[in-house]
Amino acid sequence: MLKGKTALVTGSTSGIGLGIAQALARQGANVVLNGFGDVEGPKQAVAALGVEVAHHGADMSKPTEIADMMAFAAGQFGGKGVDILVNNAGIQHVSPVQDFPADKWDAIIAINLSSAFHTTRLALPFMLTANWGRVINIASTHGLVASAGKSAYVAAKHGIIGLTKSAALETATTGVTINAICPGWVLTPLVQKQIDDRASRENISVDQAKKDLLGEKQPSLQFTTPEQLGELAVFLSSPAADNVRGVAWQVDGGWTAQ
Ligand code: NAD
Repeated sequence: MLKGKTALVTGSTSGIGLGIAQALARQGANVVLNGFGDVEGPKQAVAALGVEVAHHGADMSKPTEIADMMAFAAGQFGGKGVDILVNNAGIQHVSPVQDFPADKWDAIIAINLSSAFHTTRLALPFMLTANWGRVINIASTHGLVASAGKSAYVAAKHGIIGLTKSAALETATTGVTINAICPGWVLTPLVQKQIDDRASRENISVDQAKKDLLGEKQPSLQFTTPEQLGELAVFLSSPAADNVRGVAWQVDGGWTAQ
């Protein structure tokens, strides 16, 4: 379905981003990966699906590196431009507001929110000229409701839903759609750290901490998987979703239904 399209997925060397990159590749999209850590493993995992793959290591907190990445991505695979942009890179820090380190606040706003503005503003001219494009922003249930200790993350995720809605209105009469996905708990390194912190703070096993984490928020008592989120990104990229615009789509096991 996406054969010949160029997809750029930020923060795709791990977790949800890698799951989405693989799902888009399964539909034939060539993929530009971004993110830190092991690059060869993720590149091979995507290439094994029979598509072309590249990686750019831009730090999503740095607008000049983002601009470099966007130019690099536009020039890949025949140099047509980016057709599908998935803004996924994100970090977390948990602390009450009065103790929240100012540098962590700035980093979370830059990586989880402002980077999506920069990539989107740079991707849109090509998409609008082609009259086809998809921007998929990975927000969170925390874009819709709050949890204590996550002020910067909740502010950034509410912000990216606002950006999604506003940009979706601006492009509403075009072939470019802009939407957000709001996952609940997904068992990735970002959440594993919160589980490990909880286990040591409360002196309980990691398994118990995992159960408690789910029981507190997610009525299904199951983690959402990167594969499930990847399939939703595929749907949002399909013709069936041509008129899905500006949504913040929960995949949260009932978290926000409560
Ligand atoms: P993860 O830690 O597994 O992956 C994060 C990715 O972002 C990695 O590839 C990492 O290298 C990259 N990254 C981090 N900082 C970066 C930077 N400055 N520049 C470029 N890349 C950077 O996390 P994840 O759980 O897969 O999270 C992905 C997204 O999904 C985030 O936006 C997160 O907020 C969101 N999300 C996660 C969950 C969850 O339960 N895991 C729930 C809701 C939303």
